[in-house]
Amino acid sequence: MNEMFLLKLGEMVLKGANRRSFEDRLKSNLRRRLAGFGNFHIYLTQSTVYVEPEDDNCDIESAWEACGRVFGVNSMCRCRPCEKNLDAIFEAVRSYLWEDLCAAGSFKVESKRADKAFPLGSIQISQEIGGRIAEAEPALKVDVHHPAYTVYVEIRDHAAYVHGPAQPGAGGLPTGVGGKAALLLSGGIDSPVAGYMIAKRGAELECIHFFSYPYTSELAKQKVLDLAAIIARYCGRMTVDIVSFTQIQEAIRDNCPEEYFTIIMRRFMMRISERIAQDHGALSLVTGESLGQVASQTMQAMAVTGAVVSMPIFQPLIGMDKEEVVTIARKIETLETSILPYEDCCTVFTPKHPKTKPTLEGTLKAESGLDVEQLVNDALSQIEKVTVYPDR
Ligand code: ATP
Ligand code: MG
Repeated sequence: MNEMFLLKLGEMVLKGANRRSFEDRLKSNLRRRLAGFGNFHIYLTQSTVYVEPEDDNCDIESAWEACGRVFGVNSMCRCRPCEKNLDAIFEAVRSYLWEDLCAAGSFKVESKRADKAFPLGSIQISQEIGGRIAEAEPALKVDVHHPAYTVYVEIRDHAAYVHGPAQPGAGGLPTGVGGKAALLLSGGIDSPVAGYMIAKRGAELECIHFFSYPYTSELAKQKVLDLAAIIARYCGRMTVDIVSFTQIQEAIRDNCPEEYFTIIMRRFMMRISERIAQDHGALSLVTGESLGQVASQTMQAMAVTGAVVSMPIFQPLIGMDKEEVVTIARKIETLETSILPYEDCCTVFTPKHPKTKPTLEGTLKAESGLDVEQLVNDALSQIEKVTVYPDR
């Protein structure tokens, strides 16, 4: 076997009694995410997950990319395993890292000896291998302080492993260890990022989308499903519950004062989402507000919106500027899809002068002409469920 991956665990190594269940979840998440790329042997010892291709049919590049999106991994490297002796280790450096090493110009060797039975200490291993490298390629300079390239040698239980610099993993905690959350997913920039951030902390996600056909188009719906498939690259398969919102929005338009349209609509979203979340066994709602961004995201408006549910509402973007959100959206590759110009149900019947500081009393009065329970039940009876898979 030529190449495999070492994935180093993140903060889950700090977990006490729960650590085992976190590790089991990480392994099963990895197995599921790599299943489409061939047969891999995946096992975990010494705070490291080993991912070994079992045959030549494995799609190593895609598997590597997928590993980079699995939460719970702090850093990751591709490496070459070899026998635990200096000749084999040097040979692995020559055959596996030589080109990068020579192109760098200067180097150092850093060794770690997890197998304490190995006869040489880590400093001795580094000196031995470093000496052999310098001898084989005199143009290469040893620089222990600012090397252009670092060769890593790890002596572990079953083998030695040789690799170049590691890269950061996806961080966070394994999806599923943090319970289930229902993400209110619009087609905008914010909610996909909010979902990603909660998923990163170990939550499993279900998505809910409110859809106002014919005011919003099939393309707008497809855009939301596309966004869900991008988020699923990180947290795996999800269900998207698509709720038809047209009847409710028309009822609001026909029966409520215009300045309250948005706030009343958002209260309906919350009521319906809480019921769907309960059906899925989700314990929280996740939305993408950032304080003060628009009229419906003032403290007063969010208090009135949140007052209709008892489930916690998580708003991971609440203290972020748009630019910070956009930076994450770009990194997780949702931005390009989010900025496609399809309308969202929030832009249907938008009031010219929305109430920025609504009171609960005023809002209750404004929605008193509606049969809330009936409208909620009607919407719940017409949900379209779509299962979304990672799109790569
Ligand atoms: P986003 O960029 O996520 O659309 P936004 O800045 O446009 O957010 P709002 O329109 O006020 O903000 O929506 C606030 C939050 O409400 C969204 O982040 C999302 O979680 C939820 N939301 C809005 N519209 C919908 C929708 N059509 N379906 C599901 N959730 C929605
Ligand atoms: Mg929006």
